[in-house]
Amino acid sequence: MTFDWNAHRFSGGVLALDLANTVIFRETRERSQDRLADPAEMPRFATAAANFRRGEWGNVQFSSPTSSGEITVLIDVREAINELFRTAVRGGGLRPKPLSVFLRLGSELFGDEPSGQNLALPRPCEQRRELPLASAAFLSGVRLFEPARLERIKICPNCHWLYFDESRNRSRRWCDMRVCGNRAKAQRHYNRNSKQAGNDHV
Ligand SMILES: [Zn+2]
Repeated sequence: MTFDWNAHRFSGGVLALDLANTVIFRETRERSQDRLADPAEMPRFATAAANFRRGEWGNVQFSSPTSSGEITVLIDVREAINELFRTAVRGGGLRPKPLSVFLRLGSELFGDEPSGQNLALPRPCEQRRELPLASAAFLSGVRLFEPARLERIKICPNCHWLYFDESRNRSRRWCDMRVCGNRAKAQRHYNRNSKQAGNDHV
C-alpha cells in the first residue's frame, strides 16, 4: 500500500525531526507504527522531504539507501535522532549516552562519503546539492545543537512527534493545529458534552 507523504507528515519542520516522525505514537507502544517498515517508502519519503524541506536546504536532492546495510544505517540514524532530541526535550538538554550514539553513527556515515562531498550544515541555497538521506538527517540534527534552536524542539501531546516550534513566542502546542490540535479540541468537546449528559441523569 502506498502512503501519502503530504505536508502534515513534515510537521517536524526540519529534516532530522521529520525522519524521526516516520514513526507515529512513539510513546504508546501498542499504537506505534513505523511508516518506513516497508523500505519502498524510503525513496518516496526522500523525494517528498526534498520538496518540503526547501526552506532548510534550498535546492537539494536526498538519495535514499539501496543496500540492506544502508537501510539499517538510515533506521539507526533515525532512532538516534529520536532518542537524542526526545530525551533533550524531556530532560532539558543533550545527554551523554544518546549524544555519543548519534555522533558515532555520524562518524561511520562520513567515513564512507567521497572526499569531495559537501557536508556543510543545511541552509537555503540555490546551488543544487545531492546528499544521502541519512547524512542529511544527521547534519540537520547537528544544526539543532545550538541552545536557541534546541529549546524550540517540542513533543506533540497527541501523536508524540517531535517538532521545531518557529513561532515568535514559542507558543505552538501541536505538531499540526489542523490535525492534532483539532483532534484534541474535538476530544475536549466530546468530554464536556458527555459529562453534561451524565449530570442530567444525576
Ligand atoms: Zn501531533
